[in-house]
Amino acid sequence: MSLPNGRLTGKVALITGATGGIGLATAELFAREHARLVITDLDEDAVETLAARLRADGAEVLGAALDVSSAQQWARVVESTGRQFGGLDILINVAGVVDWGGVEDTEHDAWDRVIAVNQTGTWLGMKTAMPLLRASGAASIVNTSSVLGIVGSGGAAAYHASKGAVRLLTKTAAVEYATRGVRVNSVHPGVIATPMIQDILDEQGDEQPDIVRTPMRRAGLAVEIAYAMLFLASAESSYITGAELVVDGGLTAH
Ligand code: NAD
Repeated sequence: MSLPNGRLTGKVALITGATGGIGLATAELFAREHARLVITDLDEDAVETLAARLRADGAEVLGAALDVSSAQQWARVVESTGRQFGGLDILINVAGVVDWGGVEDTEHDAWDRVIAVNQTGTWLGMKTAMPLLRASGAASIVNTSSVLGIVGSGGAAAYHASKGAVRLLTKTAAVEYATRGVRVNSVHPGVIATPMIQDILDEQGDEQPDIVRTPMRRAGLAVEIAYAMLFLASAESSYITGAELVVDGGLTAH
């Protein structure tokens, strides 16, 4: 795994939800592109196992348990990042949860949890990491929204609300930090084969209604989202801020 010129050489990148489908693919890709990584997720053992594997492949990795809805845990992880790496250049907010309930059948607890993780967690990450990111001088934040942050589907009320919020939070942060060395963009995956929706895909296969409506007629792969993260994280996208990068096989093109 020693590429002579990684696309993220010298950059420190923090990834949340890094042991899930999209987070894992992003962590692996960023390691191949020579980022120095802070990988975080809820389960400390899973984080350590991944950190050990990436280190064995030659990457420099700090692993830390992080519930993104906790301001205290964010403070601890950002502090450890500064101590270990001396700064932070890239923040990739991937952690997320879904609840499929519509407006009337969403439980209040489920609503609160989805908003706390997807929406508040994204804001807390940006807020807490921003001093280190500003100090970088050429930093990038990528927030994970969804196609369900752009269009309605008739269900998943809390999820839509949270992902729509991530979309606009991204844009306003992009404007706020445009002249302060921090770009902020969002990625909007369509139907991606990850543990989050694997049971639905296993049950319904290619007849799953959103796959039927996807012009490319297949689910996306986690690595296909990771490549979008990589582009927005790297200097290749240096004039792009406040953008929403849709990666959905054409699902929202019609
Ligand atoms: P996943 O379930 O495989 O991964 C989500 C990860 O987030 C898990 O590792 C989980 O432990 C972690 N997580 C959950 N709650 C957390 C918390 N409070 N703090 C920290 N980590 C937490 O799902 P995925 O498909 O890889 O999802 C990644 C992101 O992509 C999510 O934001 C999701 O909403 C978004 N997304 C997924 C799809 C899809 O079809 N899979 C589509 C659009 C958007």
